[in-house]
Amino acid sequence: MAVPRNRTSNARKNSRRAHHAKKPKNLAACSNCGGRRLSHQMCPHCGFYSGRSVIEQASAT
Ligand SMILES: [Zn+2]
Repeated sequence: MAVPRNRTSNARKNSRRAHHAKKPKNLAACSNCGGRRLSHQMCPHCGFYSGRSVIEQASAT
């Protein structure tokens, strides 16, 4: 098994990890209720996807 010849310096370690930050999720606005939802997924607020309701809701019927 390969073993590192030199110790990685703090500066080299930290600059490598400079790209590790999480990015915020890309949220789209719901066309029905205007709330924030993930693109290509059902709206968690009103249950709409592609202009129609896709889940059973207790208040719907
Ligand atoms: Zn919605």
